[in-house]
Amino acid sequence: MKLATRLIHGETGIDQQTGAVGVPIYQISTYRQTSVDHFGKYDYARGDNPTREAVEETVAALEGGKRCLAFASGMAAITTTLMIFSPGDHLVVCDDVYGGAYRALTTIFSRMGIESTFVDATALAAIEAAIKPETKGLYLETPSNPLLKVTDLRGAAAIAKKHGIISMIDNTFMTPYLQRPLELGCDIVLHSGTKFLNGHSDVICGFAVVNDKELGQRIRYIQNAFGTGLGPQDSFLTLRGIKTLKVRMEESQKNTARIIDWLKQQPCVTAIHYPGLASHPGHSIHAAQADGFGAVFSFELDTIERTKKLLENSKLAVFAVSLGGVESILSYPAKMSHASVPTAERLRKGITDTLVRLSVGLEDPDDLIEDLARCLGS
Ligand SMILES: *Cc1c(COP(=O)(O)O)cnc(C)c1O
Repeated sequence: MKLATRLIHGETGIDQQTGAVGVPIYQISTYRQTSVDHFGKYDYARGDNPTREAVEETVAALEGGKRCLAFASGMAAITTTLMIFSPGDHLVVCDDVYGGAYRALTTIFSRMGIESTFVDATALAAIEAAIKPETKGLYLETPSNPLLKVTDLRGAAAIAKKHGIISMIDNTFMTPYLQRPLELGCDIVLHSGTKFLNGHSDVICGFAVVNDKELGQRIRYIQNAFGTGLGPQDSFLTLRGIKTLKVRMEESQKNTARIIDWLKQQPCVTAIHYPGLASHPGHSIHAAQADGFGAVFSFELDTIERTKKLLENSKLAVFAVSLGGVESILSYPAKMSHASVPTAERLRKGITDTLVRLSVGLEDPDDLIEDLARCLGS
């Protein structure tokens, strides 16, 4: 079955008891047991819930993984997964990692004796050079936020295998529709399902997907121990959102190409960061490991005044944090995702005061372009 069909008929298809064409919301915390010696499949919903299981099986299949665990947020997926490491373990992490992951690593995991070294992961040599005898994990994001930098996933996974360390990839920007890191040799795929997977800006959720059942069981143990699993209502909404993943990604991607073509001709736009552009340094690597370039990009403007005018006056693209919704979302990395990074460090990373990120939604691109033109005064 091809992916588009699987998205609709899925792993969980028809409800066996009622014939319902979707999995119901099991808004239930506990289950009656009939035997003192053998508890049933379900006992208490912190551990297992049929609606959560349905979304887990769906995302596992999309990523080509054997086990998926669904979490109350992307950060719950990331932090629960990172708890497989122990004091004294060392991690190598891409230097433009998602801000929430950076915060957890540098203020919480560091306190637990798990240290991280941040590297420019566009260079495989930099990854390898940071590996020490106590290194146990490699944590990457590609394309990364907000400059859409690209890491060679096959190369990175091979380095991890060679050194016997676990590779983790945050696949939020691409979704399994466009990029499947497990097929490229990576060990754990992480998601903020809040973004494109659910796609409607109405759920916070996250996923961890693995091919190794034992590794899946270790993460599952912590999920149950900490109670970080996804609730049934949000599991249901995410299952519904995922049904339209293909059409949303295709349409948003098409709209992205249209908008970028227009932005390229605007003199006030001084740079565009998108792996789909042949001039992007990661263009060919990305093309070799993904089926498309996605619907998020960033661009720079000539003046701070014009940047503010765009962010504050846009009527169609919502000025907000987040991405991957049916509505276009304009973000300002300097004051949003990277607000806590010291200014000099932020500028060194290329996140300037005139850098804007756009996540393209499903509006008609003509309307989006007209709105951008009005705000940019072009
Ligand atoms: C939003 C996001 C996260 C965090 O996910 P939440 O669902 O907000 O907890 C992690 N990684 C990336 C790339 C994200 O965009």
